[in-house]
Amino acid sequence: MHAVVIGAGIAGASVAYFLARAGARVTVVDAGVHAASSVPGALVNPVRGQSGGVDPRALTGMAFTWALLRDLAAAGFAVPHGQVGVLRPVPDDRARARFERNLPSALAHAWLAPGDAPARLSPGWAHVLHLPEGGWVDGPALTRALLAASGARVVRGRALDWSGREVHLSPAQGGLEHLQADAVVFCGGSVGVTWQAQGGRGGAGVHRMGTLLTLERPVTRVPVSFGAYLAPHGSGGVLGATFEAPAGSWAPEALPLGSLAWLLGRGEALSALGGVRVTGRWTGSRLSGLECGAEAGRGWRLTGLGSKGFLLGPLLASELAARVVGEAQA
Ligand SMILES: Cc1cc2nc3c(=O)[nH]c(=O)nc-3n(C[C@H](O)[C@H](O)[C@H](O)COP(=O)(O)OP(=O)(O)OC[C@H]3O[C@@H](n4cnc5c(N)ncnc54)[C@H](O)[C@@H]3O)c2cc1C
Repeated sequence: MHAVVIGAGIAGASVAYFLARAGARVTVVDAGVHAASSVPGALVNPVRGQSGGVDPRALTGMAFTWALLRDLAAAGFAVPHGQVGVLRPVPDDRARARFERNLPSALAHAWLAPGDAPARLSPGWAHVLHLPEGGWVDGPALTRALLAASGARVVRGRALDWSGREVHLSPAQGGLEHLQADAVVFCGGSVGVTWQAQGGRGGAGVHRMGTLLTLERPVTRVPVSFGAYLAPHGSGGVLGATFEAPAGSWAPEALPLGSLAWLLGRGEALSALGGVRVTGRWTGSRLSGLECGAEAGRGWRLTGLGSKGFLLGPLLASELAARVVGEAQA
């Protein structure tokens, strides 16, 4: 079978990889306009946000992502990552109680005194939750590796419209105006869903922008996260957060000065930043409102991974790919 995947972020690259492993011939169409998956250092963190929410699939997703990284390495596609744990400092007993209510018993964890945490934290934290099975991954490196390992043909261009069997491209790519397929999977992320909505073809969800500062070296070897996060990445470190106001659509990347001040403040609250040089800045928009499955008359869809793109994206993509192939063969 021939499948066309629209979008080459972590969702699209993972779908392409698992479709190819199931025996499909895959073409990936990517506009190259904005990919949240280019986030330089992403956490693989099962305990989310400031309330400590844990997605029901978080443990399975986390194990799946680490196993995928091992499979890719064995196939010669090494991706910078570290399964080195994640630290979640909390400011007071109430926050700890909130986190504790959400922690599943199957999730390995320990509460530490701040002075015992395997990272030097700024003063003021009451407790630290240690999640030894978490870690970080280089987002663009993982996405590139999945695409390469899939062997998919990659077409640079925008899919203007599509059905479950045909994709129309704009501008025409090397004379190519449309692609025929046995299955079409849309993985367009924040920008793609915005284009869909602008074209009057549906598209819902909440879009949120955030920024990472890349650092010459990691401030901490074990990622630390509360409000913002400090983590290693492929060739240094990051300080980042998703903090702009939620919006109804994607907008071009921007970093208001006040947001920069906020980010630096949150970073200092986690750990002393003095002496570490900033080497760059990355701003991106993520889309919440998970949609994973068939879409009437338009094939399939994996969008709205929110802040869990690397925690849940590969797992959901593998399950979706199995359904796509199963239906094509039925
Ligand atoms: C600041 C920030 C920090 C984050 N930190 C983390 C983290 O620590 N851990 C974590 O797990 N997640 C994190 N995320 C979330 C994660 O980045 C996203 O969930 C994930 O990258 C979304 O992937 P995607 O493939 O759905 O979309 P994207 O990566 O946005 O990819 C969509 C791709 O589709 C293309 N496209 C769209 N429409 C079309 C079309 N019509 N035709 C052709 N191509 C099209 C786009 O050009 C783009 O390349 C963070 C996000 C942000 C913004």
